[in-house]
Amino acid sequence: MPRRLLSPARAALRHHLTPAVVLALGLAATLAAWALARSTLRMQSRERFVDEVDRASAALNERMAAYEAMLRATSGFLRGVGAEPSALAFHDFVATLDLRDRYPGIQGIGWSKLIRPDELANHEAEQRAAGRPGYRVWPPGARTLYSSIVLLEPLDWRNQRAIGFDMFSEPVRRGAMERARDTDDPAATGRVELVQETGRERQAGFLVYVPVYAGAPATVEERRDRLRGWVYAPFRAGDLLRAALDATAMQKFGLSAYDGTELRAEALLFEAGAREDETRLALVRRIDVAGRPWTLRFAAGRSFESATERLLPLGVALGGLALTLLLFWATREEVRARTRAEASARRAVFLAEASKVLSSSLDYAATLPRVATLAAQRVAELCIVYLERGDPRWTVGHATPEVASRVRAAVEGSGFERDVEIGPAAALQGGHPRARSGFDPGRIALAARAPALAGALREAGVGSSLTVALASRGERLGTLTLLAGARRRFTRGDVRLATDLARLVAAAVDTSRLYAAARAAVRERDEFLSIASHELRTPLTSLALQSESLRAKASRLQLDDVARKAEVIRRNVDRLARLVASLLDLSRITAGRLELELEPFDLAELAREVVARFEDEARRAGCTLELVAPEPVPGSWDRLRLDQVLTNLVSNAIKYGPNQPVEVRVEGVGERAVLTVRDRGIGIPPEDQARIFERFERAVSKRSYGGFGLGLWIVREIVESLGGTVRVESAPGSGATFTVELSRRAQAPARTPATGLSPAAPTA
Ligand code: ADP
Repeated sequence: MPRRLLSPARAALRHHLTPAVVLALGLAATLAAWALARSTLRMQSRERFVDEVDRASAALNERMAAYEAMLRATSGFLRGVGAEPSALAFHDFVATLDLRDRYPGIQGIGWSKLIRPDELANHEAEQRAAGRPGYRVWPPGARTLYSSIVLLEPLDWRNQRAIGFDMFSEPVRRGAMERARDTDDPAATGRVELVQETGRERQAGFLVYVPVYAGAPATVEERRDRLRGWVYAPFRAGDLLRAALDATAMQKFGLSAYDGTELRAEALLFEAGAREDETRLALVRRIDVAGRPWTLRFAAGRSFESATERLLPLGVALGGLALTLLLFWATREEVRARTRAEASARRAVFLAEASKVLSSSLDYAATLPRVATLAAQRVAELCIVYLERGDPRWTVGHATPEVASRVRAAVEGSGFERDVEIGPAAALQGGHPRARSGFDPGRIALAARAPALAGALREAGVGSSLTVALASRGERLGTLTLLAGARRRFTRGDVRLATDLARLVAAAVDTSRLYAAARAAVRERDEFLSIASHELRTPLTSLALQSESLRAKASRLQLDDVARKAEVIRRNVDRLARLVASLLDLSRITAGRLELELEPFDLAELAREVVARFEDEARRAGCTLELVAPEPVPGSWDRLRLDQVLTNLVSNAIKYGPNQPVEVRVEGVGERAVLTVRDRGIGIPPEDQARIFERFERAVSKRSYGGFGLGLWIVREIVESLGGTVRVESAPGSGATFTVELSRRAQAPARTPATGLSPAAPTA
């Protein structure tokens, strides 16, 4: 089967597939680019975060190392002093350290003296004597060892509260103090609440101890033995960390510092920095603070990412999306343009094929079915061509010939041509293409009163139609209908194609009809020529015989006979003259050269002359020829031409009504002249009455009656040239009455040549 021209499913697939693939690939590429940009930038921001975290923990480490060094220095100072340091010397020493500015976070530096139970009373007494009247070591109670904060600088009101406190009595502090004692290294406590903490804004704190011995002990035993006390420093964790860390860095991430190795809420020392709902990056670092592990948790949210890191992936996604849509649009346009171009190329090929089929023969009855089948195979499922006249009226094409002939049988004799929904009527009325889809063949068949049509249309599988008119040279000839499945929507391209096809078909039908008419005309002429030669031969043969006989008789001088023979010759000459005259008129009228010479005369008188001329002939035919013309009927006409009209009518009346009366009547009725020729002869059947006024048309057989069939045609042509009419009233067997009506003041209108090919309207 040849390739279908516009298969909707395939066209749709081709239409959508390529752009869809472009769209999918574009979206996938965009997604990939977005993901890559995002992960790269996240990695970048993570690296930055790790950097910042490393820097922050290093800063903290450094800071703590500096504090430890400072405490060791203080311990060295006290060891150097040897005995109990004086409050003043200690004050001066600590003052030189400039704690507030150089060591922020530190609450002070103190001297905690180790006191054995036997020394306690003495110690308290000494301190009270030295100007501290309320001094006592607290909390009170009997213990194996005591310690007491003796010195604490700067000695503000806050630190004042700590004087005399026995830190060895409190287990957390005591742990660190023992560790420092045994290791001769700085040792930090876990999280504690400093005794200096009062009121609001309480912070977690811790303390760092450095031992002070007498001499330089080397072993743990010696260290325990020679311990004099501890230099220590209380720290507020928050202040310390805030000071240690870069303030701008702390705006970007949050820090939680825990004492120990676990992230336990009760071990939380400090929490600061940016806090966000969603943690994007988190890192945990361990540091060592005077022998105790601390765990630092750094966390950052969205705000840690730079504007580029945040916006670039979005930009990539949007850019990719825009590019993809642009590509998609361009591809779709391209595919559409290509599809259109291909469709129009295929249309052109189809039309060329149809045109080839149509021009292969001048008989459209042979070419139409082939074109209809071609259209059904290429453009639709079914193609129906309807012609208003001629044969065949219906041509049906379908890929399966049996289906085509079933539809054709169903459509013939149905009222389908009157169907305005999908049938020819609508296109014939409006002339515009008419498309319908999704209809039910059953309803159409019902409207067309043809139940078989429903079955045939259903079998053909159609439910949508496109009907266009067939017209050529301004004449409407019929319609062409394409039918397809119910879901098919006929496009503008389809309409164009159907219109083009209809034009080709109409031209072919028209040409074919013109050709047939031309052939018929030629055939008529041939027939006429044979009749004419026969007609001309008959009087000539008679003339030849008579003249021969005349010659013989004359030689014997029998003159009566000569006179009779001469009369026969005369009559035959008249007849020949009339025949020749009508032949001449035939060529004149056909060529449009019938010239009229108008002059005033009396029609009654002309009728009298003609009747007189026919008296002999009428007598011989056994007719009584009567003229009824009571008064003159003057007017302005062509005398010779009206003579011809009368002659033709009267000679016909005698020829077709022998042995019967013939009446010629001339009357003036107002502005009109009425001429009637009536006979009682064979009459004319009603169906022939219009035809006999046409050229070569006769209603009698050649054998019974001679003649060219030109007389009445010439009569009509002359009468109509003079602006009048001619008609006949007759019934077979009861004679005929020809009536000519003329205006008394005839005008000679310009006449176009009669071609004899177009079916002219009858005048009768
Ligand atoms: P012709 O007489 O040469 O055949 P016409 O044109 O004069 O041609 O007439 C055409 C036909 O009309 C005739 O052949 C005849 O059949 C019919 N006809 C004409 N006049 C009469 C008539 N008076 N009575 C019956 N038939 C007539």
